[in-house]
Amino acid sequence: MERAKRINAVPPYLFAEIDKKKEAAIERGVDVISLGIGDPDQPTPDHVVERLIEEARKSSNHQYPSYVGHREFRKAVSQYYFNRHGVEVDPGDEAIALIGSKEGLAHMIWAYVEEGDYVLVPDPGYPVYGIHTSLAGGKVFDMPLLAENGYLPDFSAIPEEIAKKAKIMFLNYPNNPTAGVADLSFFEEAVAYGKKYDILICHDAAYTDITFDGYVAPSILEVNGAKDIAIEFGSLSKPYNMTGWRIGYAVGGKEYIDALGIIKTNTDSGQFTAIQKAGIEALLNTPKEFRDSLNSMYQRRRDLVIGSLKEIGIEIPPPKGSFYIWAHVPKGYGSAEFVSLVLEKTGVVLTPGSAYGKQGEGYFRISLSVADDRLEEAMKRLKDLF
Ligand SMILES: *Cc1c(COP(=O)(O)O)cnc(C)c1O
Repeated sequence: MERAKRINAVPPYLFAEIDKKKEAAIERGVDVISLGIGDPDQPTPDHVVERLIEEARKSSNHQYPSYVGHREFRKAVSQYYFNRHGVEVDPGDEAIALIGSKEGLAHMIWAYVEEGDYVLVPDPGYPVYGIHTSLAGGKVFDMPLLAENGYLPDFSAIPEEIAKKAKIMFLNYPNNPTAGVADLSFFEEAVAYGKKYDILICHDAAYTDITFDGYVAPSILEVNGAKDIAIEFGSLSKPYNMTGWRIGYAVGGKEYIDALGIIKTNTDSGQFTAIQKAGIEALLNTPKEFRDSLNSMYQRRRDLVIGSLKEIGIEIPPPKGSFYIWAHVPKGYGSAEFVSLVLEKTGVVLTPGSAYGKQGEGYFRISLSVADDRLEEAMKRLKDLF
């Protein structure tokens, strides 16, 4: 059976070769340590799990959920925005529940992008933005995220004729994979740029609550008038260790939320209401101590990795957010080559930067979502190798 041509737009699975080498190492009896996946090793907080159990028992939660998300969940998102960012979000028409933020990011493209429209995508970046743009028939314009610019895109480097043809710009801070952060003045610039060229700014805020050294990440909605041109995607996955639960949300201008809702209503039927209720518990009733201790755990791991890399001659400033370390490979190596060498010699799996875009070449990514003892062992092996 011939597949749809759009499938050809999906690049081959970039980790296929790494996976093969990893399998072979396991076969040889090597104790493989994966620092590849961004998926928290810690459990979901108990109060959230308890709420799910309670809600799962109620037959009133067993039917199709509301398409846009349970009103109580949307109210909780609104309350969270007010508490955390001082921003007012109308739970009625400025918020929508998502089956994980990835789902919303993908569907947003289908709501706006037509054949030939441009989408401005960070390079390196989370692959969903570019892949769905291609699937929808749009054109990807890469915005390089460079170390010398603090991993922020340079809007003045985008050609005027591309800006005029662009429908959406994706941003993501704290950033995956570079761990770069943005301050409010950057978001002000982004909103002004979006308004000037009529480009919807989609901010992926998956790591907003994972920050270090006292840094507090802003929401793009803190910018005056942001809702006219921006929408923000939030996720419960990373801050509450809930990746498997598939719950997130989008907030922002109501015409954008409405457009996303039209795609969703005709595709999925929303997330299980009991999970949404447990999500309320996570958003509103998670003690500050949980957040502080999770962030100090990642900060401790960050410092361990930064220190170990320094000992082998790779020096980078400690990032202020996300749970990734983005570092340049030693001189003379390419990303894939370095990652293969490390895997073969030490059994440690790193992610090649090139998997996230052209600008990722020459870099590798380490995820800090790995148990302390395993991370320590991995760093010891790296230091022994170099
Ligand atoms: C993990 C991640 C997401 C997806 O989160 P879900 O809510 O689990 O779908 C979105 N964006 C980035 C950059 C991520 O790293």
